[in-house]
Parts: sequence; structure tokens; C-alpha cells
Amino acid sequence: MGQTYDAVVVGGGHNGLVAAAYLAKSGARTVVLEGRHKIGGAATTESPWPDAPEFAVTRLSYVMSLLPPTIINDLELARHGYKIYPMGPYYQAFSEGGSITLYADDAKRNHESVSKWSKKDADAMPKWDAWLAGLAEVLGPLLLTVPPAIGSHKPKDLASLLRLAWRHRGLDVRTIADVTRLMTMSIADLLDDWFESPQVKGALAVNGVIGTWAGPYEPGTAYVMAHHSIGDVGDGHLGNWGFQEGGMGAVSSAIESAAREHGAEIRLNAPVARVMVDGGKAVGVVLANGDEIRAKVVVSTLHPKTAFLEQVGREHLPAEFSTDIERWKSRSGVVKINLALAELPDFTADPGTELQEHHTGSVEMAPTMEYIERAFLDARDGKPAVRPFSDGVIPTAFDKTLSPEGTHIMSLFTQWVPADWNSEPHTEELEAYADRMIDCYNELAPNFKSSILHRDIVGPYQMEHEYGLIGGNIFHGELSLEQLFHMRPAPGFADYRTPVDGLYYGSSATHAGGGVCGIPGWQAARAAIADRKEIVRGGSRRARGRS
Ligand SMILES: Cc1cc2nc3c(=O)[nH]c(=O)nc-3n(C[C@H](O)[C@H](O)[C@H](O)COP(=O)(O)OP(=O)(O)OC[C@H]3O[C@@H](n4cnc5c(N)ncnc54)[C@H](O)[C@@H]3O)c2cc1C
Repeated sequence: MGQTYDAVVVGGGHNGLVAAAYLAKSGARTVVLEGRHKIGGAATTESPWPDAPEFAVTRLSYVMSLLPPTIINDLELARHGYKIYPMGPYYQAFSEGGSITLYADDAKRNHESVSKWSKKDADAMPKWDAWLAGLAEVLGPLLLTVPPAIGSHKPKDLASLLRLAWRHRGLDVRTIADVTRLMTMSIADLLDDWFESPQVKGALAVNGVIGTWAGPYEPGTAYVMAHHSIGDVGDGHLGNWGFQEGGMGAVSSAIESAAREHGAEIRLNAPVARVMVDGGKAVGVVLANGDEIRAKVVVSTLHPKTAFLEQVGREHLPAEFSTDIERWKSRSGVVKINLALAELPDFTADPGTELQEHHTGSVEMAPTMEYIERAFLDARDGKPAVRPFSDGVIPTAFDKTLSPEGTHIMSLFTQWVPADWNSEPHTEELEAYADRMIDCYNELAPNFKSSILHRDIVGPYQMEHEYGLIGGNIFHGELSLEQLFHMRPAPGFADYRTPVDGLYYGSSATHAGGGVCGIPGWQAARAAIADRKEIVRGGSRRARGRS
């Protein structure tokens, strides 16, 4: 059965939905094909406990930061339900007693808190914050830049490289040196340059290892910290993270609603098997059930190995490009643990089960850099971490829509299990790993274990097989230096275009991804619209009516 559209978007994760919304807004007749029974991909809210449907969790991703105001405003996402509660402070309690709290935007309280551990570090903290803010000013705009094809001699590519150089002509030797440090150092070495106390260094190291197959002593982790620290949830606060009301699935739903309003069609349970290529051009897709959908533009938002090697096929791709995609690294060893709690954790260091400030931000299990490193070394040795590291949050500190009154949801983003756990479910070992993780928190908050009503464990196998996150990598590909900017997903193809004419690529494996930032989907749609003016002219009635 044949059907024809201007644009077909493969994958209804948040990037696919953003791409569809922009394509439809520009007037293209657009359809999104999502393989699962619901949209959102890794930005999803689900009720994993059939016996307790009143609890909902952000099953994979859990906090917002990088969705730029441009996308929020263009798609009028607030009108479609995008509502962020800014997150509270970073909190870590210690088994030897005491705790540390770090505030994103309160230098005075930060100073008081850090002084408990080191006066020197407390004094260094404002300088560190200013240093990072200065670098974020350089790196932030790069997130919205289409990477040039560095090394290409084509006039168009040379022109974009020159434009980039010109934009950065104001940078001085020190800033270039600082950016170089950030791009090449380990987060451990960088923090050693600035701070002395293990507590402060543990706290600041977390963002360097989120989602990475690398401990804090690996070069490149300083950049990962920066990637997670450049943030703006639309209120202009740099590095300020927030919880979406209704969980991360509500971000996807807001984008979906905008896309539908502009006329995009969204089909669920519609797995794509293949991209149709004719004479070097993408001409549509074939669904797993054999249906063909023809379109002038195809935008894929799947993992690059699926999008290119499986769905396009090496016979339609340059050999070098296929090799680059084969070599694409997607390890991570992340396990997501979602908990329903009868009451809030009662920390020995800061007692009480009533809601307090330290429940409102990240509730961490990362007491020192050595602790985090040990967890990584265990997994690199082929065993799940004995004492895993966790970035925990309790969104119900603000969001009352996720669980019944008086109860809470806690999301634990934990690391590491061995990188190859994507190939087998490892169910029993994951249960034991979750037990150990819970025990670690229980040492700090003795009511923790007994407060757990339900638990849901999502390991790398499930991430790959249920959500299409190959290798269990949370970003469709590691944020390692050789996979960033003009190399993401492959040299020469970082401009959201692909070797196949008419096929565009907008998953988290492109520049600015990963994370729930929508930039890859936005850029892929912009590239398609710029190249294929005819799809815009054919615009939907609804989109024309609104413009
Ligand atoms: C555990 C975890 C925690 C994370 N935490 C955060 C966080 O707190 N904050 C943050 O910003 N980011 C976080 N991330 C990263 C972020 O969620 C991802 O980078 C982002 O959601 C990916 O979006 P995407 O649209 O590119 O891809 P996806 O969300 O993977 O969407 C791809 C879609 O394609 C569908 N699909 C797959 N195969 C097919 C097929 N053959 N046919 C049709 N459809 C198909 C999938 O079902 C999916 O819906 C986290 C990710 C994970 C896994």
C-alpha cells in the first residue's frame, strides 16, 4: 500500500517530534513513524507497576536543562504543557557524618556550606563558577552552531569554517587555553587544580561522568561536565536544571501537541524496517509490515548503526562513512532505578521525613572521586559496581501529579555495570545491584529501604531492546572527544545531512546531542527545509493558516 508525504520522520522521540513540528510548521505534509506504542523515546513518563498505576516515573531521562528558548518559543511549548520547576541544590550526605549542599545560584550559601569542609575551597568556589560561566559563554552558542566540515576544501565548507573563526575572533590566549584544558583533561585532574577537599571534588565530579563509559580520571570527562553545566531552561539561568511537571514524557507530549497543531501526523506501533533509496536519493521508507511510505525528505532520529547500517545499507553509503559508523562507540553501563517511596529519606546528617530543601535537588551517592572511580573500575573489570554511584532526584518534591499525596517518586541514575550488559538481560544481577545501591543510600538515611513501595530497574539490555538505545548508551553515542562537534556522527556529515540525498539525520548522535535538547531535530528539519524548498511550498492548510 503506497502513501505519499513531503516528509517522513523515523522515530517519535523528542528529536523526531521537534523535527516534525518544524517541518509541519514550514508547510510540509509530515508523518512521524514511531515503533513503540507511545511517543517520547528516552523522554518518557510511564507507570511501570501494573498493581500500582497511580505511580508514574520518568523512566529514563529525568531532568531538563538544554532545551533552548528558541525551540520553546517557536513551538509555543508552554501553551502545550511545558512547565519546569527549577531544581533545588546538590546534596550529598556522608557516612562519616555531615553533608554538603551546593547551590547553583547562591554564592553566599555555597560559601557557608563548602566552608564546613574547606575554607580554601569555599573561597575558590566563586572563581570556579565564574570560570565555568566564562567557558559556557564560549561553548553555549556552539551548541546551536552547525559544525563545519573541517578539512573540506569545498568553498561552502571553507566559508562556514571562516564564519566560525570570525565569530570567535575575540577569544584570547587564556580562553583558548581554558577551552583546551576543558576538552582534554580528566575531571579529576581539573578539580585537583582548583580544590582540595574530597567532599567538594566528589560533588563536582558527578557531571563529568554522567552517561559516560569513563571514570573521573579519564581524559575528556572535564568536557562532559561542561556539557551538563551549560544549561538554560528558558528562564535565563545558566546551568539551572529543572523538573518537567508530569515527568519527561510531558516534554515529549508538549512537542507532540505542537507538531500535531501544525498538521503533523503521528503513527504509533509503526516500526520502520528500511529507508528506500533510488538512484542515490532517499525516496521514502518501508515499514516492518511491508507498507511503503514515499516522501521527498526522510529524517531519521534513530541510533546511527540502526539508521545507516541497518536501514539504509552499506551498498548505498560511502565505505569510509560505513566504517566510521561501525566504529561509533555506544557504551555506558547505566542502570536506571525508579522507586515509589512511602516517605522521604530521613538523612542522619539532616534528619526529618518532612519535605526539606535537600530533598528538592540532586540527592547523590558520589561521596568522593575515588568512590566514583572504584565503581567504574569494577565495571571495566567485567563486574557490576559493588558500591554504585548515583545521581538521584525526587521530582515529587514539586510535582504532585506523579504519585498519591504523601508518597514520592525517586529516580536513581546509576553507574556502572559492564559495557556488554546490553547483550543479555542480567535480570538477577541487576536486582542484586539495585539492592546494593539501595543499601548505600540506607547507610545515610536509615528509613530508606523500608520506605520503598515499588521498584523498577532498567538496565542496558532493556534500553537497547525496548527503547532502541544501542549499547545502552543514553545519548545514542558516547560524548567522548572523538565523537563531538564535527565528528558527530561522522566527519564530513556533522551538518545533519547524510551521504544519501534527501536523508537527514537528527538524533542525539549529532552535534548538541545528547540530552533532551531538541537541537538535533531542529537542525535536521532546518537543513531539509533549506535544501528542499518544494516541500515548504506544498504546505499544509493549517500551517499556512497560522503563518
Ligand atoms: C537512563 C537515561 C537517563 C537520561 N537522563 C537524561 C536527563 O536527565 N536529561 C537529559 O537531558 N537527557 C537525559 N538522557 C538522554 C536523553 O534522554 C536522550 O539523549 C534523548 O532523549 C534522545 O532523544 P532522541 O529523540 O534523539 O532519541 P530517542 O529518545 O531514542 O528516540 C528515538 C525513537 O525512535 C524509536 N524507534 C527506534 N527504532 C525504531 C524503528 N525501527 N522505527 C520507528 N521508530 C523507532 C524509539 O522507540 C524512540 O521513540 C537520558 C537517557 C537515558 C537513557
